Amino acid sequence: MKTEKSSPDLETEVVFAGLCAHCGCCGAFCPHIEYQQDGLPQILDACNETVGQCYNSCPRTSLDISNIEQKMFGHLREDESLGYFTKSILVKSKNSILNILIDTAFKHSLIDSIVVPENQSKKPVNNIPKVIEKSKDVPKLTSRNIDYTGPLVTGVNAAYTAGFKSVGLVGNPCHFQGIAKMQNSDFRSGISVQSLKIAIMCAAGGATGCIYCIDYAGEFSDISYSDIGLDDNQALLLIRTKNGQDLVDFAAKNKSFEIISESPDLSKIQDLANKKKTRNINNLLKLQNGKIGYLELNGKTLSALF
Ligand code: SF4
Ligand code: SF4
Repeated sequence: MKTEKSSPDLETEVVFAGLCAHCGCCGAFCPHIEYQQDGLPQILDACNETVGQCYNSCPRTSLDISNIEQKMFGHLREDESLGYFTKSILVKSKNSILNILIDTAFKHSLIDSIVVPENQSKKPVNNIPKVIEKSKDVPKLTSRNIDYTGPLVTGVNAAYTAGFKSVGLVGNPCHFQGIAKMQNSDFRSGISVQSLKIAIMCAAGGATGCIYCIDYAGEFSDISYSDIGLDDNQALLLIRTKNGQDLVDFAAKNKSFEIISESPDLSKIQDLANKKKTRNINNLLKLQNGKIGYLELNGKTLSALF
């Protein structure tokens, strides 16, 4: 399905409305969009498209969660706070778990390149994408690397243009919302090469639109990662797809990390995810003056509900 809207609508409904997540989906495959120093998209010139790939790729113009879940996983979620996943594990290693996952993916040819975030600036906050083709060139990664969002999806186009065929991405949940939308749309683009999705769980990433974001856990990834509140060298992984499971199986078989629990306590991340969803749905309702479908709720009712 394609919506008959394009870049002026994207500006009005998302960018100027303060909803933008700085994810880079809108301009990743479009020559008419660039990203400013803070990661906000800038429409360079008017195009003649009435059905814009930019508008249709943006996770903030619309996000049909159940439809995407059904297409991506073949199932709907049972866990409202964390999204669909098949398994959760707690792992430990003396090395960075994120780097182990990437190294394993290269070794077993799950990817031929990976896009990782590189901090460009803290003021304004922004990460830029770095395309890496050899495991040894990946910098040490932890959840700190993704404290900020940035137009990382443009890195997938850089890798596609360079001829890579299976491109991994380490990103925030919003990046994978947009990618899931693009990969399940009727548009054809280089996003088809984006193969391995590693999401870092994210409370907020510095974009104005983060206060309207309802995905904490990286619900549209292959595998979600969190080290919040854990001992050093430990990480909690949510496995969502066969791709994610293969990656973990290879890493465990190679003894790259040790699985220390196959039923870890998820209450902390569930709590963080629920708080984020509640707070930010409330923010969205305030933005729309409490309008949900046919209902118009006043401030007092909204406060009672959230
Ligand atoms: S949220 Fe992403 S796709 Fe939407 S306008 Fe912002 S950068 Fe573009
Ligand atoms: S809160 Fe995190 S996932 Fe959500 S828009 Fe901001 S950076 Fe992206």
